[in-house]
Amino acid sequence: MTLPSIPLGTGIAYGTGCRANADGNGARAYNRSMAQVSPSRTVYDVVIIGSGAGGGTVTKVLADMGINVALLEAGNMLDPAKDYKEHMWPWQVDHRGVGPHAEGYFGKSPYPFGYFSAPFGFWQHEDEPYTVAPGEKFEWYRSRILGGRTNHYGRFSFRFADYDFKPYSTDGLGTDWPVSYEDIAPWYDKAESFIGVTGSKENIPSAPNGIFQPPPPPRVHEVLVKRACDKLNIPCIPNRMAVVTSPHGLNGRPPCHYCGQCGRGCVTASNYSSSQVQVLPALKTGRVKLITNAMARELITDGNGRVTAVSYVDKKTRTEQQIRCRVVVLAASACESARLLLNSRAPSHPNGLANGSGTVGRYLTDTVGYDLNAHIPSMANMPRYDDDGMGGMHMYIPWWLQQEKNKDFPRGYHIEIGGGLPMPGIGEFHGTCTRAEGYGLPLKKAIYEEYGTWVGLAGRGEMIPNERTWCEIDPDVVDRWGIPVLRFHFQWGEAEMKQARHMYDTFKSILETMGGKVYEPYHPEVGEGISIGGTIIHEVGTTRMGDDPKTSVLNKYSQAHEVKNLFVADGGSFVSNSDKNPTLTIVALAWRAAEYMAEEMRKGNV
Ligand SMILES: Cc1cc2nc3c(=O)[nH]c(=O)nc-3n(C[C@H](O)[C@H](O)[C@H](O)COP(=O)(O)OP(=O)(O)OC[C@H]3O[C@@H](n4cnc5c(N)ncnc54)[C@H](O)[C@@H]3O)c2cc1C
Ligand code: SF4
Repeated sequence: MTLPSIPLGTGIAYGTGCRANADGNGARAYNRSMAQVSPSRTVYDVVIIGSGAGGGTVTKVLADMGINVALLEAGNMLDPAKDYKEHMWPWQVDHRGVGPHAEGYFGKSPYPFGYFSAPFGFWQHEDEPYTVAPGEKFEWYRSRILGGRTNHYGRFSFRFADYDFKPYSTDGLGTDWPVSYEDIAPWYDKAESFIGVTGSKENIPSAPNGIFQPPPPPRVHEVLVKRACDKLNIPCIPNRMAVVTSPHGLNGRPPCHYCGQCGRGCVTASNYSSSQVQVLPALKTGRVKLITNAMARELITDGNGRVTAVSYVDKKTRTEQQIRCRVVVLAASACESARLLLNSRAPSHPNGLANGSGTVGRYLTDTVGYDLNAHIPSMANMPRYDDDGMGGMHMYIPWWLQQEKNKDFPRGYHIEIGGGLPMPGIGEFHGTCTRAEGYGLPLKKAIYEEYGTWVGLAGRGEMIPNERTWCEIDPDVVDRWGIPVLRFHFQWGEAEMKQARHMYDTFKSILETMGGKVYEPYHPEVGEGISIGGTIIHEVGTTRMGDDPKTSVLNKYSQAHEVKNLFVADGGSFVSNSDKNPTLTIVALAWRAAEYMAEEMRKGNV
């Protein structure tokens, strides 16, 4: 996860599901036995489940190729003009957006990323619980609206490096992907050219060159970070963010007007969200049947093991429906797609569909996160200037030690930079109030002096898949619709703990080189400060690709080994979770899978 200018919320670790009764339904749950199952008369060429980065991409690519698709989305339709609060002022909302009873002012905000964030995302929702194995921690952020989490996301868009596709060959840990950087590069080109990604060609091995929109200039604190990095021989380069900045715009989307509010959604569609950039334009082709509030429950197969239909719950009418298809694409997000496969059981596949290898739900990873902030005294009382820009950092630090032999952990991380002069929210100066003496004018003076003087560094690092981290169906809990929920197991390994320790040392040295005073650091050597699994919101790998059907779910085109008319287009296909945020790679792989699928359909192979 990368947050632009909205403070990170904290979620609750445990779900709130109904316990299942004898027929598998929870007390409040939708009663399946009462359902009227109505199969669609139409057989769609392709049914796509989920409209986020993966589903939106497949929808747009197939519709442009003339293929009729149905898109099932569990959330509501999006109306950007109404749903995005991009230009709303705090004073336009009761309690300036800290909750109907000002809860956020006194403690935890009822909104995961603040009232103004794009709708409808949540860590916990009583309709859709999940559980976590006793003694472990995992948090699962989901969005239920057209476009899924691409409405919310930070839009940092980094290509994997060539070595990221070959982790086992590099250091003997994990597994190599069945594809190389060269295989995927043409689809990175297509993705960047279409969605618009800022950046600069730096010829840095960990940050391959791409097709970039012009990067905006750095803000003052970023200039200072770069100066410190130059002294320490660490690269600091323009950020790569899915935002259109060319004065000519892109595909009818105007350039960014630098309001700095990407996390709220962008009314002009200058930043990428699959809802605005892919699904809404695809609807105009007339080839997309969009069904919102459609919660897919399971995939229905025939005697040959082919998927013939998707069963879903119409959340508005609380009825069960079936939609028939020639091909199905799972793009409900990595864990939700694994859940669908595991819940699709029949005598021929009692452990779930496409799960002969037993690896559905396995190899789950998130990104390693560790943050450190510092006060930079030289920035106190700085003349105020307009640091509006993209809704996220303008500079970042790519990984720089891949050739280093003496570090005590495998793989690497990149560093995201926070700071500047964003619009303060209510409660923003609590910290200053605890540090400064007095009230009235002296307190105001202290706030003025301190505002804009902090810089935060956030490490985002690679986690090695381990056998203690996976998801499975909880046999005892179902959601509101009677669908069995996921139970998560999550444990960091020693490699991740050592990596967090390295982040701490590095961040401290950058911040102190800037003359900064580090704020009460967490100590990774005692397990403090490393993120809770899932909270970086980069969960991938639950239906991984590979050449061997015994150890993987999908082939190198994201097609199930065992079910030829089943594809997965979300992060489930990832074999490893490099330090790069995953969404650009999800888009590239989904695009490639869609083109392959169309060709296989044309040849009559699926
Ligand atoms: C605050 C935040 C910041 C982030 N920052 C970054 C970043 O800077 N860079 C980056 O690369 N990534 C970032 N991410 C992660 C990024 O959002 C995800 O990688 C990406 O959205 C995943 O795409 P997806 O298509 O797999 O799933 P999603 O975007 O989650 O979309 C899945 C869709 O499927 C629907 N769905 C789910 N279950 C069902 C069902 N049973 N039936 C029908 N529909 C269903 C959902 O409603 C949703 O619309 C961030 C995420 C968040 C929340
Ligand atoms: S900063 Fe730019 S891309 Fe982000 S919401 Fe504002 S106008 Fe849109």
